[in-house]
Amino acid sequence: MTTSATPGRATRGAATSAHEPDSSWRERLGALLDDFRRRPRPATSHERFAAAVAWQSELVDAGLAAPGWPEAVGGLGLDLTDQLDYYRMMTAAGAPKHPCSLSFIVAPTLIVHGTDAQRQRYLEPLLRADEFWCQGFSEPGAGSDLASLSTRAVREGDHYRVTGQKIWTTMADRADWMFALVRTGEPGRGTSGVTYLLIAMDSPGVEVRPLRDAAGGRHFAEVFFDDVVVPVANRVGDEGGGWSIMRTSLGHERATAFLADEFKYRTTVDKVVRLAIAQGYRDDALVRQRIAELETDVATIATNSARALGAVLRGEDPGSVASINRLVKSEFEQRMHRLALRLTGPGAVLGGRSFGAVDGGRWTHGYMMTRASTIGAGTAEIQRNTIAESVLGLPSHRGEGRRAPAVAPGRPLAAPDPDEAVVRETVADMVAALVAPDRLVSGEVDRAQTWMSLVDFGLPGLAAAQAWGGGGAPLGLLCAAVEEAAYHLAPVPLVPTISALALLTEAGAQEHARRLIDGERAVVVVATDDAGWRIGASADPAGLVTIAEGVLSGTVGRVVGAPDADVLVVLAREADSGELVIAVVEQADVQLIPEEPLDLTASAAQVNLDGVTGTVVASGDTARRASVYAHRVALLMIAADSVGVAARAVAMAVDWAGQREQFGRPIGEFQAVSHRCADMLVDTESARNQVQAAAAVESDPDNAEPAVLLAAAQALSAAVRVTESCIQVHGGIGFTWEHPAHLLLRRALSNEACCARPEALRDQAAEHVISRIESA
Ligand SMILES: Cc1cc2nc3c(=O)[nH]c(=O)nc-3n(C[C@H](O)[C@H](O)[C@H](O)COP(=O)(O)OP(=O)(O)OC[C@H]3O[C@@H](n4cnc5c(N)ncnc54)[C@H](O)[C@@H]3O)c2cc1C
Repeated sequence: MTTSATPGRATRGAATSAHEPDSSWRERLGALLDDFRRRPRPATSHERFAAAVAWQSELVDAGLAAPGWPEAVGGLGLDLTDQLDYYRMMTAAGAPKHPCSLSFIVAPTLIVHGTDAQRQRYLEPLLRADEFWCQGFSEPGAGSDLASLSTRAVREGDHYRVTGQKIWTTMADRADWMFALVRTGEPGRGTSGVTYLLIAMDSPGVEVRPLRDAAGGRHFAEVFFDDVVVPVANRVGDEGGGWSIMRTSLGHERATAFLADEFKYRTTVDKVVRLAIAQGYRDDALVRQRIAELETDVATIATNSARALGAVLRGEDPGSVASINRLVKSEFEQRMHRLALRLTGPGAVLGGRSFGAVDGGRWTHGYMMTRASTIGAGTAEIQRNTIAESVLGLPSHRGEGRRAPAVAPGRPLAAPDPDEAVVRETVADMVAALVAPDRLVSGEVDRAQTWMSLVDFGLPGLAAAQAWGGGGAPLGLLCAAVEEAAYHLAPVPLVPTISALALLTEAGAQEHARRLIDGERAVVVVATDDAGWRIGASADPAGLVTIAEGVLSGTVGRVVGAPDADVLVVLAREADSGELVIAVVEQADVQLIPEEPLDLTASAAQVNLDGVTGTVVASGDTARRASVYAHRVALLMIAADSVGVAARAVAMAVDWAGQREQFGRPIGEFQAVSHRCADMLVDTESARNQVQAAAAVESDPDNAEPAVLLAAAQALSAAVRVTESCIQVHGGIGFTWEHPAHLLLRRALSNEACCARPEALRDQAAEHVISRIESA
């Protein structure tokens, strides 16, 4: 790396870089990484740093650097999918990252706003890590409120004279260049007189004074400018146009910088799980909950990252998704390190550099460092302001009015694909027309008519095989339909019927499955506990009703949907052999004792099966396989229902926060309210992504089980949190019977209890995670 660089110095232009556009990158990168794997690993941090710098040059020479940059400026110009593959390959090989991450904030800015001369001068040395960059935005008097920056640049002919101070400038002591925001316009707060300059750090008048951070390191510094001369040629964009250019920088920081996070976090979470095992916490119930939550976080970040990058590549502003992503990521980093530090047990009394510190003190150091995760690059509070004001369209907390929301609050942030959009719109319109919340409270909704409209549309058989009369759609579409029906609180046994249908189709019971596809309502009759359906161990399916020569005996309580069902699909135990059996029973033959449901949009009953004749449709292994699959589908559908309920709660809360006034202002201006709404959105959006992602892997046996467990746990818990918040945001009105907020909470609570508790699901998911690590 050079320590001195002169603006305009001739270097080999990135645009004329060694490689020609081609599609052989995958083989070439694979070969380079094979070679990399055979190399000895650097032992010290100094060696690691030198190796990382050398690796960048190697990538540039091989024409394999910058997968997402256009080829014209030295990149590979790969599309999103290929970029993800590129990073997967790099991460799997343990290849070092670029040693100066800030370079990838200035680079997109130069690509979009720089001159040809700037691109030629700066991009290749940046990519090679020959030159390092630092970001000079924050000042002692301008942190979150960057528009208050006061470092002045006064133009004199072909140069500016810069005077002022930057602070918390990461890598300032190592950087060759700073991309800085300076004030060229009138002094005072404002964005119009802000200009974007590239300042050589070895310019006379630049003084760097390293600052020690809370973790004990010296990664950032104060930078003083005393009449520093900066050529006008080093200005990016127009004078006074720096603010919008800076927004491009931050937009890219929040979007592209996340691409590799999925892989980085995956690796670190695995290390935390290994730590838990090594430290004897494998079976600690609390630790297992936290492990499952970390897994959920990683999955959330992965889907959000892909979406944000997808938006960038389509030329769209990734802003709304990216703010959510940044908040999730920063708080996840803290949670992960808090758990890791906890897992070091009594070892946590030692400092990170102490002899005997667990894992060389990395978790102590990581914990201290991640206190900065919710401060640097925009605090968590500022992220919540952005989500509330720019994504949800709530009024500005600074009294600066309102913007239109990015999407209607509660709706998916990522535009659904055309099929999903049609399903969502159709189901939503249909149910909304029939189910008004006030009529729900007074019991005036025509449930039969609502059900028949859904059947006319193709539910509940949307995802059933076409050969059986179903729609043949992927499970994700079915989830979207269930979500929309729940959004409008459809008071019909859609989830119970879909679960029963899954049981029948997987058991091969075509004739009975067809009845449900044609519109009969059904329910699975099986005792449940916190862990889910009590189908028990293979030899002794405890807790089941019994069946002998086709005649059932036993009672199952709290069967949600039973009073509405035409058909009951019973999971029973063969009295002699103990084998699991699936039997179909007509509701008319059964004695039902109605129970009062917590969820006013559902029904519940105790089902007495004594002496009832059932048609056995499957037994033994077939029945077991079918019940395992159907339980997963049931969880997924309940989760989708919960997402719909949560989404409605977001919409209602945001609507109220924008219109209800107190103290002469809409309550949405108060951050206690707007930040709550922001958290509701993040919770709901994350849950929706998890459910969709889990639906997408349903056919992959290795991943389906943990994905569904985690998605369901996430959605069930999120819906309760979000609907509780909805009542809180509404104040007294939200606590009245007539207001629909309690209907949402009731449905969310019932969902959380009716099939399996989120804690039990997380525990099961944690077992998958721990076993995977143990067997690796
Ligand atoms: C490790 C680290 C590295 C950094 N690296 C760089 C760098 O390389 N370059 C650079 O330019 N800067 C850098 N920064 C600075 C960083 O951008 C600022 O610290 C950040 O923007 C917050 O500004 P502040 O520190 O002045 O805090 P303040 O803005 O003073 O915030 C203090 C508290 O008030 C809250 N707050 C402030 N305004 C509001 C509001 N409107 N609504 C609600 N709450 C509010 C904040 O959330 C926070 O909790 C770095 C910071 C850290 C910690």
